[in-house]
Amino acid sequence: MSVANCIFCEIISGKSPANFYHKNEKFVVFENNLHWYKLQLLLVPVRHMTQNEMWSSDDLIKDLCLFANEVGQRECPEGYRIFSNFGDHGMQSQPHGHLQILGGTHLGLYVNGRPPSSPYKDIQR
Ligand SMILES: [Zn+2]
Repeated sequence: MSVANCIFCEIISGKSPANFYHKNEKFVVFENNLHWYKLQLLLVPVRHMTQNEMWSSDDLIKDLCLFANEVGQRECPEGYRIFSNFGDHGMQSQPHGHLQILGGTHLGLYVNGRPPSSPYKDIQR
């Protein structure tokens, strides 16, 4: 099932271009067109679903995580990061669920590092 105005559904259906790294019946993997990092891949379920639906799935999230880790081990032996963004505070930019994998360089603390003036820096967790 694809959803109108979803860029990931358009990529999966071939209506929009992408540089694919992998395809199978459950998910596709393609380069993030931001190209901020040497390795910046998106792992996207073929069926349109939300982040929460993807993360609440049984086998699909396991398959996505296993594949992301395999890619990281193979492509980024010095380290990598696997994550998803959720909602506005998480800066989720696409409604179609997905994992991201970054690597190929030192990634710093989180993505941009903790800002020195962060109001949260003294909070103990
Ligand atoms: Zn979609």
